Amino acid sequence: MKPNCNHLLGYLNDYDYIPLNSSTIKEDLVFQSKSSFRLQKEGSLKNGYAPLDYLDERKNLSKMFNYCPYCGEKISWETIKKEVKGE
Ligand SMILES: [Zn+2]
Repeated sequence: MKPNCNHLLGYLNDYDYIPLNSSTIKEDLVFQSKSSFRLQKEGSLKNGYAPLDYLDERKNLSKMFNYCPYCGEKISWETIKKEVKGE
């Protein structure tokens, strides 16, 4: 990844579309995950989600781009998933 572009990776499907950027995706997904478990506990959400669930296309929790719309670089989701997992 180019260090000079904070890639726009996609959006979380929430009430608002929350943009996902390469520099903050891990913290954003951890935050989102914690909120989901809190809402589940309170009964306003059926399921809580782990951070990686947001990057699972079958779960349809986010819109994930193949290419960064700012710089056109191909987004390496494998690398990002590893980072989110903490590998
Ligand atoms: Zn970019």
